[in-house]
Amino acid sequence: FPVKLDNPKLLRAQAYINGQWVSADDGSVFSVDNPSNGQTIAQVANLGPDETGRAIDAANKAWPAWRALTGKARANILRKWFDLIIANTEDLARLMTIEQGKPIAEARGEVAYGGSFVEWFAEQAKRIMGDTIDAPMPNTRILVLREPIGVCAAITPWNFPNAMITRKVAPALAAGCPVVLKPAEQTPLSALALAELAEQAGIPAGVLNIVTADSDNSIKVGKALCDSPVVRKLTFTGSTQVGRILMEQCAPTIKKLSLELGGNAPFIVFDDADLDAAVQGAMASKYRNAGQTCVCTNRFYVHAKVYDAFSEKLAEAVKNSLRVGDGFEDAVTTGPLIDAAAIAKVEEHVADAINKGAKVLTGGKPDQRGGRFYEPTVLTNVSSDMICMREETFGPVAPIVKFDSDADVIHQANDTEFGLAAYFYSRDIGRIFRTAEALEYGIIGVNAGIISSEVGPFGGVKQSGLGREGSVYGIDDFLEMKYVCLGGI
Ligand code: ADP
Repeated sequence: FPVKLDNPKLLRAQAYINGQWVSADDGSVFSVDNPSNGQTIAQVANLGPDETGRAIDAANKAWPAWRALTGKARANILRKWFDLIIANTEDLARLMTIEQGKPIAEARGEVAYGGSFVEWFAEQAKRIMGDTIDAPMPNTRILVLREPIGVCAAITPWNFPNAMITRKVAPALAAGCPVVLKPAEQTPLSALALAELAEQAGIPAGVLNIVTADSDNSIKVGKALCDSPVVRKLTFTGSTQVGRILMEQCAPTIKKLSLELGGNAPFIVFDDADLDAAVQGAMASKYRNAGQTCVCTNRFYVHAKVYDAFSEKLAEAVKNSLRVGDGFEDAVTTGPLIDAAAIAKVEEHVADAINKGAKVLTGGKPDQRGGRFYEPTVLTNVSSDMICMREETFGPVAPIVKFDSDADVIHQANDTEFGLAAYFYSRDIGRIFRTAEALEYGIIGVNAGIISSEVGPFGGVKQSGLGREGSVYGIDDFLEMKYVCLGGI
């Protein structure tokens, strides 16, 4: 393995079902590569629907004992998992950087962020509360119990190989639900390392199962999870396109769904904004993870009065503070994109913008290193007919559009089927409230470029998804309400 781990047990290439490390029935494996140089770093078990069925059975068998534990007992186990995650930060970050490409400092940050969901939901496991309701009939009491929904399936993406797992698994486990998780085929090693730590923390066999699969088998594993009547809920983070397929596949069994799908985040700079703060927020929201997060700004709208000043400041900041390279190199801020298709998409979006009249202030082409590296880019003279304004680019490209009126920019910002995150910069309290309320998005950053944390409810409206993750609300998606009408008192 190309990087040395302090704890070599964290490097796992087999799937994890019912507390056992297992190979595929037919022995097949798939390659995981380092996006920085394309070299194969591991061969991971490539499971299919049969093994998935066994994982679902194991989860279902583990369910009664897991739900019967007190919330406090589950909390103690989750807390141990959190402590182990933090204690193994360096190894988890190394595994993440080698399979995902993000700079090691960002990977360490993600481990802390991912761990924060385990810590938070360990605490919340003790605070699952029902209600009593005043009855309209005499001699009657009305109770609302909150119970774990049952076996949960989780399908996660490659852009946050650790945090997207903990944000789903921790609330499920806290609520008393077992999980069958299929991690992204690009980043299974982070998922398997988390399972190893879960086992060390004392999470019982069958309560957390990891089914690894390549891209073809992922479709079959996904189908098996959706088709199973034993699986009561599916939680998914990924593209809107795949979210639609999963929703359709879950219809026959009427599964409860949580979907965190694509975004097309606008970032608005009003003429009263603190421009330096806006540039700082823009840098964080646009270029983190090389632009590959679902809440990354996709399109900038800047008021005509400050358009040139903002654009120039942003281009300067990009030139001065971003450094492209392998995530293990010192001071690198921008790693490779995940795969060849990701690079091709960014090239297509930039070429289309330039053809339609966009001006390149900086970047605008693949990095000289070649491979999957792309230069952080700022484009001005951008118009709404360009592909980069309508589709998620998922790369380090900032297209900037000029606007004149509040009403017009809000209309443009809302003119999309997506509704995950939106950002704006203003110092005017009236405008702040008006704009925050007018934007049809699940998450609004006001004078803030980084909005994710374990205590805020994360999720989108419109075709960006269903449900909320994290926060005091996040556990609700894994609980059913049971109404008990107690008469004859
Ligand atoms: P991205 O564009 O971020 O790769 P995807 O939606 O393609 O997003 O992938 C997110 C997750 O969904 C990955 O774990 C992937 O393997 C899985 N996936 C992709 N297609 C399907 C499918 N048809 N059924 C189930 N899972 C799928």
